[in-house]
Amino acid sequence: MTMTLIDAGVNLCNAQFDKDREAVLARAKAANISNLLLIGTELAQSKQALEDANRYGFFSTAGIHPHYAVDAADNFITELTTLLQQPNCKAVGECGLDYNRDFSPRDIQREVFAKQLTLANTLDLPAYIHERDASDDLYHLVKEHNTTGVVHCFTGNKTALTRYLDLGLYIGITGWVCDERRGLELQQLIQYIPNDRLLIETDAPFLIPRNIKPKPKLHRNEPAYLPYICQMIASLKQTDAQTIALHTRQNTERLFRLTTRQ
Ligand SMILES: [Zn+2]
Repeated sequence: MTMTLIDAGVNLCNAQFDKDREAVLARAKAANISNLLLIGTELAQSKQALEDANRYGFFSTAGIHPHYAVDAADNFITELTTLLQQPNCKAVGECGLDYNRDFSPRDIQREVFAKQLTLANTLDLPAYIHERDASDDLYHLVKEHNTTGVVHCFTGNKTALTRYLDLGLYIGITGWVCDERRGLELQQLIQYIPNDRLLIETDAPFLIPRNIKPKPKLHRNEPAYLPYICQMIASLKQTDAQTIALHTRQNTERLFRLTTRQ
């Protein structure tokens, strides 16, 4: 049986793909990646992600990443709403808190994130959440708004994981889990993520899985490498990759209300 996967997080408009975007998509298809969720991180990129989704038959998100919160236009909620009313735009995000880089002042990050949680609730859409070193504040904000969604590229500790699961959130796992150095804590936590709450995503072109053999010459991640993440999770959960493929696919379709090709 062939394993079909959905990549629940791709930065397709990143300049690293400018020279060979079509070839990257062809390799994804050859690797049985049947669909991609294209991530927006600010207004222009969210527009581009939706255009690409419409063009290639994928889905997109629209939001303001915490790094860009400080630059958010006064009318960003109106602008995001226009995008999110399009049928292929499926979630509000990336949105969230990043206290690791602190590219935007924290009070502004919280304000812009809270507005996007309210927007997600108003439009009855899930949130696509980014969190780094900010799990306490993020937990309380999501709890207060009672928003559904996914914590993408989860890299937190067990307390954070338990709290997110208690809120009903899904957990997105990237190639971070394949990293034999900084991924060790995450590897220990995979067993605590129920199969019906797990999403897999490459976050391409970032976070290339370190278990690819032979190592690709180009140090750039792409959707075709998603099976390496699936296999790593399967081995950590002591199950087969097919089981993880099936669950993560169903979870992605359920959370984002996708109607996808087989
Ligand atoms: Zn992120």
